[in-house]
Amino acid sequence: MATSILSDANRRLERALKYVTISEDAAERLRYPKASLTVSIPVRMDDGSLRVFQGYRVRYDDTRGPAKGGIRYHPSVTLDEVQSLAFWMTFKCAALNLPLGGGKGGVTVNPKELSKFELERLSRGYIDAIADFIGPDVDIPAPDVYTNALIMGWMVDQYSIIRRKHSPAVITGKPLSMGGSEGRDTATGMGAFYVIEAMMAKVGKLPQMTTVAVQGFGNAGSIVARLLFDAGYRVVAVSDSQGGVFSPQGLDIPSIQQFKTSHRSLQAVYCEGTVCNIMQDHTILTNEDLLTLDVDILIPAALENQITAENAAQIQARYIFEVANGPISADADLILEDKDITVFPDILVNAGGVTVSYFEWVQNRSGLYWSRQEVNQRLQGMMVTEADHIWQIAQEKTISVRTAAYVHALSRLGDALNAKGIRDDYVGNR
Ligand code: NAD
Repeated sequence: MATSILSDANRRLERALKYVTISEDAAERLRYPKASLTVSIPVRMDDGSLRVFQGYRVRYDDTRGPAKGGIRYHPSVTLDEVQSLAFWMTFKCAALNLPLGGGKGGVTVNPKELSKFELERLSRGYIDAIADFIGPDVDIPAPDVYTNALIMGWMVDQYSIIRRKHSPAVITGKPLSMGGSEGRDTATGMGAFYVIEAMMAKVGKLPQMTTVAVQGFGNAGSIVARLLFDAGYRVVAVSDSQGGVFSPQGLDIPSIQQFKTSHRSLQAVYCEGTVCNIMQDHTILTNEDLLTLDVDILIPAALENQITAENAAQIQARYIFEVANGPISADADLILEDKDITVFPDILVNAGGVTVSYFEWVQNRSGLYWSRQEVNQRLQGMMVTEADHIWQIAQEKTISVRTAAYVHALSRLGDALNAKGIRDDYVGNR
């Protein structure tokens, strides 16, 4: 990787610092992850051999509450990536006013190459390795790319075995039967949908007049595509890791969803079908082509660094809603701004996942469980309130929506850091 993703993330922080009054001590604290753990996870494979995987857990900042953030399984996972994802979680939780800090975890692995039993052994081994670093009051993991409720179930069970007590609040995104929350499965897509609806109303765009392209048809991308389709938007393109499909009349998203679900692998862990094989009238296109389609709304919902200085000039969408974490590089931000493309940033748009994770943690600790309707109502209230705040900051200060989101989060983080008295502690002038 040419440039560090964390230093790219930090450039956003520096941009936002110009528009907010927080102490230099607080700003300096936020430039570095608080704690990073690297572990080796030995896993007995089905053929009897032993493989050792690298795993990470990072607590970026926990001033506002226990760290919170998902666990990613992917061959490209590095400590740098996990640190930057933990950085984003810090700002995301603050932007949504959740009483949580930012964390993240990951294992460098292609999980699709493992059997279900190997995957379970790896997941339990990862928890064995990081058990002393996490906890309901310390750091609370959740699913991310290529991890899901099934894997969270194994992990929470392993943690409970280690602690010798029922510990549902240590991990969110669990199966419902293990203390998961109603609505967590759809939360990220649902939260993004609430933000898109609220922001499109502000700019006066009606669903029927709005075309959409979605890169990444996974948990988050497929849900937001479906909700937009149901609301009357014309979703003209979707893609997954194998490529994409395009139809100018609009795709039938429910049947694509059904196709993907019916091609879930035998192990019921990962989907093996690709949107490219759907039985609809469509043109096949690459992920690169999807990004440069002439649409109203572009939704990157796959991995980070999809829009960079290399392809930003070719982007034609009018609005970008970042459902993925970090899909646009800091260099590309400036090019998109010059082209008058409005980017709604990840730390706002995809915060529905962590918000319902927070609800799950609250329910686990109180023992009182909410209906899906109650979860979605609370989610909508929080997403729309914070999106409105951020939009207002962007208008008042004439800055990008991304910088406004950082400004919003930073002022809360700065208040919390200052309230803890870091000035006194570090300057020593009590
Ligand atoms: P997922 O594993 O369910 O789906 C990822 C999708 O991206 C799959 O369809 C996969 O085929 C596709 N993909 C992988 N590589 C690709 C590539 N090179 N080009 C195009 N598509 C590719 O993951 P998810 O949970 O939907 O997460 C997607 C993004 O959203 C990630 O950036 C994640 O960090 C972010 N996110 C997810 C959640 C959540 O709750 N699921 C919450 C916040 C943020």
